[in-house]
Amino acid sequence: MNPALEKLTKVLRLEAARGYDNGAVFGGLDRLLGFWQQEARQAGVPEALIRNLVTGLADYPTMPPAQRREALQRALAALEGPHLSDEPSAPKVRRRISRNKPPLRGRDARSHAALDAPLTSLPGIGPKTAKTLARLGLETLGDLLWHLPRRYNDYSQLKTIDQLWFGEEVTVIGTLESLQAREARRGRLTLVEAVVSDGTGMLRVTWFNQPWIADRLKPGQPLVLSGKVDQYLGHLTMNSPEWEPLEGDQVHTNRIVPVYPLTSGVSQKWLRKVIRRVVDRLAPRVQDPLPEAVRQEVGLPDLPTALRQVHFPDSAEALHEAQRRLAFDELFYLQLGVLRQKQEWEALTAPPLTVEDDWLARFESALPFELTAAQRRALAVIRADLAAPRPMNRLLEGDVGSGKTVVAAAAIGIAVANSSQAALMAPTSILAEQHYRTLLDLLPRAAGVPEAQIALLQGATPEAEKRRLYEALAAGEITVVVGTHALIEDPVAFADLQLAVIDEQHRFGVRQRAALRAKGENPNLLVMTATPIPRSLALTIFGDLDLTVLDEMPAGRQPVETRVLRSTERPRAYEFIRRHLAQGRQAFIIYPLVEESERVEARAAVEEHERLQQEVYPEYSVGLLHGRMSAEEKEAVMQAFREGQIHVLASTAVVEVGVDVPNATVMLIEGANRFGLAQLHQFRGRVGRGRYKAYCLLIPDGDDQAENERLKAMEQTQDGFQLAELDLIQRGPGDFLGTRQSGYVELRLARLTDVRLIEAARRQAQALLEKDPDLEAPAHRPLAEAVARFWRGKGEIS
Ligand code: ADP
Ligand code: MG
Repeated sequence: MNPALEKLTKVLRLEAARGYDNGAVFGGLDRLLGFWQQEARQAGVPEALIRNLVTGLADYPTMPPAQRREALQRALAALEGPHLSDEPSAPKVRRRISRNKPPLRGRDARSHAALDAPLTSLPGIGPKTAKTLARLGLETLGDLLWHLPRRYNDYSQLKTIDQLWFGEEVTVIGTLESLQAREARRGRLTLVEAVVSDGTGMLRVTWFNQPWIADRLKPGQPLVLSGKVDQYLGHLTMNSPEWEPLEGDQVHTNRIVPVYPLTSGVSQKWLRKVIRRVVDRLAPRVQDPLPEAVRQEVGLPDLPTALRQVHFPDSAEALHEAQRRLAFDELFYLQLGVLRQKQEWEALTAPPLTVEDDWLARFESALPFELTAAQRRALAVIRADLAAPRPMNRLLEGDVGSGKTVVAAAAIGIAVANSSQAALMAPTSILAEQHYRTLLDLLPRAAGVPEAQIALLQGATPEAEKRRLYEALAAGEITVVVGTHALIEDPVAFADLQLAVIDEQHRFGVRQRAALRAKGENPNLLVMTATPIPRSLALTIFGDLDLTVLDEMPAGRQPVETRVLRSTERPRAYEFIRRHLAQGRQAFIIYPLVEESERVEARAAVEEHERLQQEVYPEYSVGLLHGRMSAEEKEAVMQAFREGQIHVLASTAVVEVGVDVPNATVMLIEGANRFGLAQLHQFRGRVGRGRYKAYCLLIPDGDDQAENERLKAMEQTQDGFQLAELDLIQRGPGDFLGTRQSGYVELRLARLTDVRLIEAARRQAQALLEKDPDLEAPAHRPLAEAVARFWRGKGEIS
């Protein structure tokens, strides 16, 4: 709705709610109408309507109550009349722009040029301010238009002072009765104190440390105030409310007010005003890249409307629609990107890597266990992928302990059987080392790969040994290399890398994954994750990969019995662990991530470790693992734990990934509430891998009921997928997609929980690409540009 009309509508509704006492605005309706007319004209309200409204209400103050009611209802009907909503909104906005605002430099330029204009092209922004704004990543007018609110204050509720309740967020229109500034706390605090009245009551208002307000406000001035109603010595007050004159457009009050991310030297109010100006001028001119048909089918507002409403919403519903639209855009561009990526990969060629059936049979018979049906299915699919004349791009997803490694080992065996090389990259040295052992144990027996051809490469590998490895890799003398990030360093070159396996892929950034891939010529790619991502989500985020799920656990694995304990029960937990130690078993004790720094985290772990060793388990050996230790130190500790020299391992979250110690039977997790369920499930997966029954004890920091409820889910299910879905619903995707995955597609608006919107985006993207695979149609050019902008700098995603 036109802002001038909206303002009047609100006042009239309030007046009606008050019983037509002419008290909704101080000074009466006629006074409001005086300046409202001008605003309405500037806002492009049709002259006939203005005149209709003003004359209809001119005598309002002198009318008897019944007549007031009638006049007011007539005015409201006129305001809400259908002829208004038919009015296209863009011309109105434009007219207002051309009247009120100085023209943009180069205003005839097409919308893109205007969006690319530097901030200094706005009046009131000089080079210095522009520099300050650059800290927020704001450089062009377009950046401002896309600088979206962090949150909103809902000040759309307009009330008179006698209707206020303590604690509510409201807007009040009144007149400034008095005003004074004074200092308090020996000059460390300036207070501007005011009294505002609206004919129904008086409201005390205090602004803290904003002395300039005293110069800006004059007694007698009609004001709009928005904020939270407070209470002081029995009086209702407002502390530091937002305020602006009643006259003019309301940007900071009397509406749903945007709150923007700021930087020092930029005030909320100033930025809001600047953005308002940019939105007014540019939003209507932004070209909408989304094909009209898609927009209609999904039921979304157009981009100009969405941008306007996301900044300055007319209503909660309009805001919701705007957010939905902008979220859809992200998901749609994401989908178009991954699907096109997939098309591209499918067009590449790669030499087929094949093995005979009896090769596979021999491999299987060399294993100490029977493959699960799920592992067999995965292996069959991967074998077919490798045999195809184009590179494999597969995501192997399987819960902790589902046995992904052996599947990868078979794939590696196939690559080597075809006289090519394979690399396996893991996120930590602990894990790389573990995989190295597994392959060293398995491949010579099961796939006939000589031990000497299998190597481990990590950051801590001595320089001389590294150089030897580089040479052997380049010469093709080493066929299987396991390693950490060290694998993607510059000197690493392969003679013929045909298979790249990435374990715990979410721990790697896109660039790292791409870097490993670049070590070969279109090598086959197998990425593995224990993150139990719901299928719909996996298809979305990893839409460029084919998906295989290991949805079955090896037989005979017992569930890990899980209990949530109160902190007062910690001594019992220690006793419980002691009993297991006495039987020769081992235990983990995990300490939560401390957000601030690894250093703090490490210190806490060191202190806890000392306490555990000296006070709790003096008769046992307690080991320590944390992120500040060097790779060798960590490795040495893990080694000692694996060999049973360390009985209790106190660790920060570094142990999370894939470490395998079958003799460990108790996992105690401190501060359990600070972890996502999916992550807790990963920890829990570290135990119960052997033949003994295993336990997981969760001790939350506090006794917050809601959090404990969340943790109860851990007691009730062993199903990582189910826990992940719960996490997704309760905490959003950040937790299990991991904040650490640098370079991962950033979705600013879309929530990955919105499965319906995701599915719509995927469907629409698929349909569009079927018609126009390269987005070449002239009508799709703006879309192609938008997709390119979205993906710029993001590189490949998987
Ligand atoms: P993850 O999928 O978490 O990486 P791993 O590959 O590390 O799981 O396997 C976990 C453990 O289960 C390993 O000790 C492995 O030897 C064992 N394992 C794998 N497959 C089977 C199976 N089919 N039957 C029994 N044990 C298995
Ligand atoms: Mg694993």
